[in-house]
Amino acid sequence: MAPQIKYTKLFIDNEWVDAKSGKTFETRTPSTGSVIAKVAEGDKADIDLAVAAAKRAFHRNSEWRLMDASQRGRILNKFADLVERDAQYLAELESANNGMVLTTAVAFMSSAVKSVRYVASLADKIQGDTIPTDGNTMTYTLKQPIGVCGLILPWNVPVLMFINKVTTALTAGCTVVVKPAEQTPLTALALAALLVEAGVPKGVVNVVNGFGPGAGVALTHHNDVAKISFTGSAEVGKLIQQAAGKNNLKRVTLELGGKSPLIIMNDADLNIAVPYAANAVFFNQGQICIAASRLFVQSGIYDKFVEAATNYAKSIKVGNPADASTQNGPQIDEEMMKKVLKYIETGKKEGAKLMVGGKRVGCSGYYIQPAVFADVKDDMTIAKEEIFGPVQSILKFETLEEVIDRANDTSYGLAAGIFTTNLDNALQYTRHVEAGTVWVNAYLVGGVQSPFGGFKDSGIGRENGMNCVDSYLEVKTVVMSLPKKF
Ligand code: ADP
Repeated sequence: MAPQIKYTKLFIDNEWVDAKSGKTFETRTPSTGSVIAKVAEGDKADIDLAVAAAKRAFHRNSEWRLMDASQRGRILNKFADLVERDAQYLAELESANNGMVLTTAVAFMSSAVKSVRYVASLADKIQGDTIPTDGNTMTYTLKQPIGVCGLILPWNVPVLMFINKVTTALTAGCTVVVKPAEQTPLTALALAALLVEAGVPKGVVNVVNGFGPGAGVALTHHNDVAKISFTGSAEVGKLIQQAAGKNNLKRVTLELGGKSPLIIMNDADLNIAVPYAANAVFFNQGQICIAASRLFVQSGIYDKFVEAATNYAKSIKVGNPADASTQNGPQIDEEMMKKVLKYIETGKKEGAKLMVGGKRVGCSGYYIQPAVFADVKDDMTIAKEEIFGPVQSILKFETLEEVIDRANDTSYGLAAGIFTTNLDNALQYTRHVEAGTVWVNAYLVGGVQSPFGGFKDSGIGRENGMNCVDSYLEVKTVVMSLPKKF
């Protein structure tokens, strides 16, 4: 049964409101393509109201600013309890709206709860330094919340993205206006309701659904927004960085795309490497920024690997995301499905060898059979552009030295991996590959405790980890004159 959709309006200043324009837009479920909700479509006028509410909530005399940091942590822990209480419902809503396989969505809810608890634990540990300075002075630093933050979310893992950005900003003491992706507005609204239930004061969290050119652009240009944190495409990330410098100078955290290289050496254990490499690119239908979409396999095992990878991809069950045996669900929408199918056609045309899959499955919903390409060359489109779909491109290499240069020959630098049983190979690769996260004999594993972000066009800044709150703080240096003599 489809989960009940409780919230479809905008959430501004603790009220559920229609868009000023009265406009709504349709939300579809990718599993069938049918409309499941009509959601208020926010625009500049609604962003103005939301930012004003967040600014009031950030005033020095506001309940939020006067609250003990430990109490902020307690409220966020209560929020974690509520997410845990509603985990099954949230997972079903996520799966219905995003097409995510339900078992994956359920697993993500427990990661989300852990994530909130980790970040919340940092609330009362934000502290500066005491610095002995020259000239008979004593200096200390205060770390203070930046202000109103605009948080712009992608559609691929909506709950985790909301939780990650919102709870970090709130832990720092900031107030927020969230702009969820237009494809996935529903779980953000449900989470906003839980934040209020947990005790977050009025105006601290606002959610304005809408489109990039409307609500998104208005948020990134607003003079009262001090920081933008964005996860999405590199193309939009660049626009956001420009917008952030246009009026006031906003701080930006950008977590963008990738074309992540995964290296399989001759000495790797294929029983482990083959399933890992498949999961690294097919997980969530390939709709993850860290997808290992360039798989470099050493020549000694190339043919054997391609055969095993092809058999593995053949066995992946594509179907209804709510079905417990399903491994891959639908792509997010028709546009993305068509875009991925076009990349597959381009791969064939440019001479890569399609070993399996690559076709649409069924005629309702947006399903694609996972595709494996062999004989992929570095200059082919499928080896260069981020596909964001279930397409494994297998390239051949001879030496580690050669493959490191080829792995780095991309504008991206989000993630990388290597499978090898030789420690020197692992050490050389982890040292020289240009990527924010590097896995050795693993891929996609980890959690909120580790910093996450990209080199080069994959982004600016790091999220997660012990220092995650820093990018929502300003450092204030206070210099005090000391008495000369006692
Ligand atoms: P994708 O290509 O994966 O759909 P996008 O990068 O286009 O992702 O979008 C991610 C988020 O950025 C969405 O919430 C979208 O509405 C928003 N967005 C898109 N364009 C802009 C823009 N010019 N300014 C601000 N936000 C935008």
